[in-house]
Amino acid sequence: MKKLGALILSLVLAGGLCGAATAADTLAEAKKKGILVCGVKDSLPPFGYVDAKTREIVGYDIDFCKAITKKLGVKLELKPVTSASRMPQLMEGNIDIIAATMTKNPERAKQIDFSDTYFFTGQKFLTKKGTVKSLKDLGGKRIGTAKGSTSEQNAAKAVPSATILSFDDYPQAVLALQQGKVVAVTTDESILAGQLGKLNKEPSTKGQYEIPDIQISDEPYGLGIRKGDTNFVNFVNKTIGEMEKSGEAKKIFEKWFGPNSDTPLKRNFKITAGK
Ligand code: GLU
Repeated sequence: MKKLGALILSLVLAGGLCGAATAADTLAEAKKKGILVCGVKDSLPPFGYVDAKTREIVGYDIDFCKAITKKLGVKLELKPVTSASRMPQLMEGNIDIIAATMTKNPERAKQIDFSDTYFFTGQKFLTKKGTVKSLKDLGGKRIGTAKGSTSEQNAAKAVPSATILSFDDYPQAVLALQQGKVVAVTTDESILAGQLGKLNKEPSTKGQYEIPDIQISDEPYGLGIRKGDTNFVNFVNKTIGEMEKSGEAKKIFEKWFGPNSDTPLKRNFKITAGK
């Protein structure tokens, strides 16, 4: 019995030591290397997209990466990710933080940690004008969205009789909508607003699409951090908390979602600790 107790004790100790040895310390690593790699979307205005003039990736998510690296005193490297690739990329160490329209939820929090909520939206639909008035109109129809998103799961629950087609990214789903292959694209309203803005800029599609007032979920966004990397979570939360207090966070929101932007939305959230 004694032997068994000792064996269990040593296994527990070894497990604890391994855990300590493998827990990431992104803060120290980034300072040592002088660089932080941020995983971002590159075709989703206004969160992350390539600026036509500068050819650089810009957007709401990128401005948060910039603020974090500025406070850290290191260079920023941006790496494009998709909804499906962002968690594996973080866990494999190819990126140091996810700033990519990512909803924080308990299922994902089993694998990675999240910052406090830095953006808040809800899931809706993008459709041809006048075709969808309620969820009933989507029954038995084909709906497009992106692989690896909460949108995929929420849509399947909200309209069980629909066929959900998952694309690599949302612009591909919007193309399918334009081609009549799906009757709606579903994801966060903030993302759909960016896609609608693009459609309204093209003379051939201007004024033909809409986002009906049908919301099927709440989507609080968090910055994704490696599991157990408490130092970095605390640093990021401190940074975004200070950005809220100084008004910088609101300024960034206004820049991308203000009344004069292509995607005017209301700021119905504040960055507060623990949310
Ligand atoms: N916010 C949702 C998610 O994290 C949808 C947007 C996305 O796919 O990035 O899955």
